Amino acid sequence: MYLKELENLINNVEEDSLKEYIYPAKAKGISPILKILLTNKCKNNCKYCLNNARSNCPRYFLSPSDLSKQFISLYRKNLAKGIFISSGIYKNANFSQEKILETLYILRKNLNYSGYIHAKILPKTDFSLIEKIFDFADRISINLEYPAQKYLSRVSSKELFDDLFKRLKFLSRLNKEKKIKSGITTQFIVGGQKICDREYLNLAYYLYKELKLKRIYYSRFIPQEGTPLENLKEESPLRIKRLYEADFLLRDYGISPSQFLYDKEGNLVLEYDVKEAFALKNKNLFPVDVNKACFELLIKIPGIGKERAKRIINLRKGAKINSFEKLEKIGIPKKVKKWIKF
Ligand code: SF4
Repeated sequence: MYLKELENLINNVEEDSLKEYIYPAKAKGISPILKILLTNKCKNNCKYCLNNARSNCPRYFLSPSDLSKQFISLYRKNLAKGIFISSGIYKNANFSQEKILETLYILRKNLNYSGYIHAKILPKTDFSLIEKIFDFADRISINLEYPAQKYLSRVSSKELFDDLFKRLKFLSRLNKEKKIKSGITTQFIVGGQKICDREYLNLAYYLYKELKLKRIYYSRFIPQEGTPLENLKEESPLRIKRLYEADFLLRDYGISPSQFLYDKEGNLVLEYDVKEAFALKNKNLFPVDVNKACFELLIKIPGIGKERAKRIINLRKGAKINSFEKLEKIGIPKKVKKWIKF
């Protein structure tokens, strides 16, 4: 589905040649982004992907100079404010990664582009190439796709997960030495095979805590016609919503995966939003005394985020909070009442 901004971009673009290669994307504060594969020619056979080597889809290859020229013309017309470049594995990983690097070089050095660049690192790319990409991009991503080797090897080549993971660790080390502006990200595919949410979230927790990833994206599995997985069921949007809620709490609120409420199969309970489910599971923490609780505990109350927690702390500096009406005056919603005490 296209974002409105990108629809405008596509409808207004004069250079028709790029139309079929534009994908929707939106980075925080920078929108729209041209999300593009340098080529969809690929020698790999990921079963979920329309561009896999056995597919009959039409193929294209954009040269780094054509791609950078096209992008700069969109950028100058204010139709694209950044670029996200990935590629199929054409010939071999280093060949495609070098073409990405060449595009970045032309943009930064020849065309003096200083805007947003998100670059994808391909599996099996040489570490020296990764280092060079690091110097030109604002954000770098490596998609692990699944939370363990056994899952990825069912739908792609063996050993791929370990290879990607090694490169993700390398990126994380580089990031410690010379911070990349918009961080490192990864993506998981959710659905298409039986993997529980607990498994995704355990790995996500490790990636945020130890490798300091900036974001993890959960991509809803939707079977692609013409791929070996075309007859599988698509994943439900509600599951993805719950995973994003849990991910936010892992990343920003210091909650660990073991504190979430799961069903007996290890999936997040769908009927409650994840924070409410957290409160139901950790009943010993509730009701929270709003006059005594520290910031870290206040933000764990369903309906209280960082901003509202700060307001409560400011309010109680003046005098003891002894009624819910006082909290309502600073914008605390009614649903919070059942989780607190005075
Ligand atoms: S490597 Fe990328 S483009 Fe190639 S088949 Fe796998 S997912 Fe598709």
